[in-house]
Amino acid sequence: MSTEVADVVIVGAGPVGLMCAYLGHLCGMRTVIVDKSDGPLKVGRADALNARTLQLLELVDLFTELYPLGKRCNTSSVWADGKFISRQSSWWDELEGCLHKHFLMLGQSYLENLLDEKLGKRGAGVKRSTTVDNIELNKKGCLTTLSNGEKIQSSYLIGADGSHSFVRHHFKIPFKVIRPQIVWAVIDGMIETNFPKVPEIIVFQAETSDVAWIPREGDIDRFYVRMDTKDFSIPDAIDKINHAIKPHTLRFKAIVWFSQFSVKESVAEKFFVKDRIFLAGDACHIHSVNGGQGLNTGLADAFNLMWKLNRVMNFDIPAELLQSYEDERRPVAESVIETSGELVRSTKYSQNGTHAQDYVKIVEKRAGNITGMGIRYGDEGLCGSRLFDVEIFNGIVKTRLYSLLNYTKFTLLIFGDDEVNLSLPKFIKVIQIYSNKCQASYWTDSSPYMNQAILVRPDSYIESAAPLDKVASLFKLTIDIK
Ligand SMILES: Cc1cc2nc3c(=O)[nH]c(=O)nc-3n(C[C@H](O)[C@H](O)[C@H](O)COP(=O)(O)OP(=O)(O)OC[C@H]3O[C@@H](n4cnc5c(N)ncnc54)[C@H](O)[C@@H]3O)c2cc1C
Repeated sequence: MSTEVADVVIVGAGPVGLMCAYLGHLCGMRTVIVDKSDGPLKVGRADALNARTLQLLELVDLFTELYPLGKRCNTSSVWADGKFISRQSSWWDELEGCLHKHFLMLGQSYLENLLDEKLGKRGAGVKRSTTVDNIELNKKGCLTTLSNGEKIQSSYLIGADGSHSFVRHHFKIPFKVIRPQIVWAVIDGMIETNFPKVPEIIVFQAETSDVAWIPREGDIDRFYVRMDTKDFSIPDAIDKINHAIKPHTLRFKAIVWFSQFSVKESVAEKFFVKDRIFLAGDACHIHSVNGGQGLNTGLADAFNLMWKLNRVMNFDIPAELLQSYEDERRPVAESVIETSGELVRSTKYSQNGTHAQDYVKIVEKRAGNITGMGIRYGDEGLCGSRLFDVEIFNGIVKTRLYSLLNYTKFTLLIFGDDEVNLSLPKFIKVIQIYSNKCQASYWTDSSPYMNQAILVRPDSYIESAAPLDKVASLFKLTIDIK
């Protein structure tokens, strides 16, 4: 059997592997993606796309198809003894530079199916019912042997193969797991209730706070129920729901998905091996589902990694750029674990017996992680911050800044009326955005970046910024122009 040649082999076609393959394909890479399953997820698992993920999806033309399928939700409320206690959404409402200030409640399967279909149509579909027998590092990169005997020589390999990652084990990357002995049930289904149902995330205060009610797409509702033991039945979990919402009652007309999970927390000691093998998503970070961050963090890994591989592979940029994947994403993974860990423990332990209120306060305090909008690379200043999305006009047509970005390129945004003449390589798209209404040109009167040149990375974080008369300095200081 001859050896297939590819740029990147991706092990695992969950949402993160599929996104890596999709982004790689957009960048013109030859990708091979394999998965042990016979098809994308049909039901269950992650349930919410956060505001940052929605922005990232806009960058790569996935937003329009997914957005109408979900339900918007940016409100958390607390109930106790059958009574409404409080409702909060300030951390969403106050978000700057963002159009969609809410979660999109939408099951993971919708994203997986869309990506799976798009890859199939591009002739880069997933090799299903296939695992990996061996991965060998060699001079050209990685030689992967699949379970069907096929061999693939690639420059890079990504392990997006979930929490039990074969790739992580194969390269003996330490992954010390903490188990706080907290077990949850998750039930998705159609319900009948006399509770005054609203599409909000509701946490219930009983003796502790062991039930959360999550709105979902269509006519589905989700319940997370803390059981504290692995030995329970679905009726046991439903009893707990009825206890928490007393004096109201609830019954499931149909259950579409049920799962039990024991909370485990870990971040892989390394996110890559010898500039060739990378881990992304659950393969390198696992934590409790509280805060809905698993899928969102994994997708952000994919957006961080793939443009860097593109630059090194196709633009002769030194491989050191790849180190920044771990430097940037590992601290994010650690902060996500702190957030979800604090949230999950607060459902059980509370100094004042106010678990549910405590929970919402933690959500507020850690909103940067939960909305995704607080994630930045580097400590302060514009450099490393996410680009704010603002309303701009093309002549009289209203649009958004993010609609101008392109994941396969850097974008140099010139905000202001001074003309700047630069001769830049093809991988930098230059867009001037004037401050005044200018027929047939981009303009805005609401940008925080006026009279500045902002160099934006493909994943829409700011690489560097300078006043307009110093725009040339951006290139000497930051990126090698080849
Ligand atoms: C049971 C369960 C319930 C969850 N519930 C929630 C929830 O309620 N809310 C929430 O926010 N998050 C939830 N999560 C977490 C969320 O689903 C993950 O964070 C997200 O799926 C991460 O995506 P991923 O692509 O990194 O990994 P995964 O989605 O795990 O995908 C990994 C893929 O790799 C494939 N694979 C594994 N090993 C191999 C191999 N050796 N060869 C080939 N393919 C392989 C698998 O078939 C899978 O398709 C849940 C996870 C699990 C497992």
